This record gives sequence, structure tokens and C-alpha cells, in this order.
Amino acid sequence: MTAKIIDGKHIAEFFRAEYKLRVDRLLAARVRPGLAVVIVGDDPASQVYVRNKARACESIGMHSEVHALPGTTTQQMLTEFVGRLNANPALHGILVQLPLPKEIDDRAVIEAIAADKDVDGFHYANMGALVIDESRYPPCTPFGVMKMLEYEGVQIEGKHAVIIGRSNIVGKPQALLLLKAGATVTVCHSKTVDLPAFCRSADILVAAVGRPNFVKGDWIKPGAVVIDVGINRLADGRLCGDVDFQEALKVAAAITPVPGGVGPMTITMLLGNTLKAAEQAAGLNVGSPFAETRLA
Ligand code: NAP
Repeated sequence: MTAKIIDGKHIAEFFRAEYKLRVDRLLAARVRPGLAVVIVGDDPASQVYVRNKARACESIGMHSEVHALPGTTTQQMLTEFVGRLNANPALHGILVQLPLPKEIDDRAVIEAIAADKDVDGFHYANMGALVIDESRYPPCTPFGVMKMLEYEGVQIEGKHAVIIGRSNIVGKPQALLLLKAGATVTVCHSKTVDLPAFCRSADILVAAVGRPNFVKGDWIKPGAVVIDVGINRLADGRLCGDVDFQEALKVAAAITPVPGGVGPMTITMLLGNTLKAAEQAAGLNVGSPFAETRLA
């Protein structure tokens, strides 16, 4: 068997085309969706992520502004800064790029973002809403995974989904979203005994570990759908995922590549969440057939 490669770039373009129509509708109503991205310090990887987010916004006609604050910024200065962004009606979404310098408490800063502008979905209110199936802004990476599965027509209901990783930004929200979609969900982590055995029972396997080529081909159930969230940089500079891609290709029914899999979907879902925030602020019905296709 050679697995189908799930093309995250193509799927992301599909959603961006839909979002562009929704942005045009807002522009016609004199509302330009706006996202503020705040970065503290000079971490090169974070700077690339932030630039990509800003470019993605502009590519579909949204307003974006990047606020680069010096590494000497204190927690109080940062929370006050976020407070000013909260009060700006031209901004519908606010994202503070993580990780923050170690002197700053990430959680305190996330809580300073107004919940209705927290388009990353990390605020307690949004995480809590996710637990009770009422999330407005599901965290972008796991939400992007769900949209990929939906686009590919993968049956989720009744299937066994195994997630490797229990972080707040990927593993836990991924578990909740798959549970909501009707999967039976197992969450594995560094203390799991006999991880390969759990993986082998997965119809849908989501790897979010952060270890290159960690999941081996013989951990994968023949015909499984494998979603590789990991992004790891090898010594030679190449990127790879958490799954041994070449081995997995021979066993799985479908797999996401790295790069070009989950990554493009993460940024696209950020656009979608910001758009939703702008539509809500403008009083538009985000549930209307035009504003929200089955897949949007
Ligand atoms: P994280 O916070 O470091 O969490 C990693 C998880 O993997 C933890 O739950 C950890 O278990 C588990 N783990 C580590 N070693 C393990 C082992 N030997 N066996 C089983 N589980 C193990 O990472 P994250 O933020 O969730 O990100 C995970 C990966 O996804 C990273 O490569 C990251 O770069 C990537 N990522 C990609 C995107 C994207 O857009 N594609 C977005 C976000 C993250 P414990 O909890 O027990 O420590």
C-alpha cells in the first residue's frame, strides 16, 4: 500500500478562498478584519512565524499589525499593552506569540487578552468553552487537523483516535475536538507504557511529540490515517515530522507530510478565527450559508 499524501497547502488554499469571500463581504459593510500580533524579544523562529501570520492576513485582504517589543519588556508593560489592543475596535483578534521570555508568565498574558479577541483560543474562557462543546475559537492547530480530516472525508465517528502528546495547545484540544466528532479517543504521553501498542490500535493517529521520525512504520495500523503535527529541524537544516514518513507511506491509508501538511492549516485557522471575531463584532450571521460553508 502507498498512502495518499494529504496536501495541507491545497486544503489551506481551499479555505483561504472561502475566507477571502467573507472578507470581501465585510469590506462591503465597511469592516476590515484586523489581527494584532505581539512578539517580545528576538527569537528568530518566532519572528518568522509572526511574519508569516501577518502576510497570510494581508493575502486575503485583512488588516494585520505586528508589534515587536524589546526583550526587556516586563509582564506589567505587556499586559497593559494588550489592554490597549483590547480597547481598539479596529482589531478583532489579538495573538501574543509564544514562548515569551522566561521572566514573563505566559498564562497571565493570555488571560489579559479579551476572550472575544483571543483568536488563538488559549484563554481560560475559550478553553473552558471547548470542554463543553461551545467553543468559538478552537485552538488553530487541532482545529486545522479537524478541517483536514473533514476535507478528506475521513470518517471519525466510531473510530479509535490516538493522540501522542497532551500539551495545552495541541494534544488536549485535539482530544476534545475528536471526542466531539464522535471518535473514541486515547491520549498518550511520555509516561504511557507500551506506546507502540496504543498506536497500533489507532484508526486515526495524531503525532504531536516534537521528536524527529519518532513513530515507526510498525506502530501504524494498516489503513490508518496519520496526522503528523510535529515540526523538527534536523542537523542538516531540513524539516521533518514526528512520524517516519517513508515507513508510514507503506502502511497508512493517508498521511500528512512535513512540511506542507498541518503547518499551512494552522495559520489558515487563525485567519478563520479572526474573521469569525470580525463577523461577530459586525453583527453578521456567521452561521448563514454564505458565511459558513459546511467546511468553513
Ligand atoms: P510539547 O508541549 O513539548 O508537548 C509534547 C508532548 O509529547 C508532551 O505531552 C509529551 O509528554 C509528549 N512526549 C514527549 N516525549 C514523548 C515520548 N517519548 N513518548 C510519548 N510522548 C512523549 O509540544 P507541542 O507544543 O504540543 O508540539 C508538539 C510538536 O508539534 C512540536 O514538534 C511542535 O513544533 C509541533 N507543532 C506544530 C504546529 C503546526 O502548526 N504544525 C503547531 C504547534 C506545534 P508529557 O506531557 O508527558 O511530557
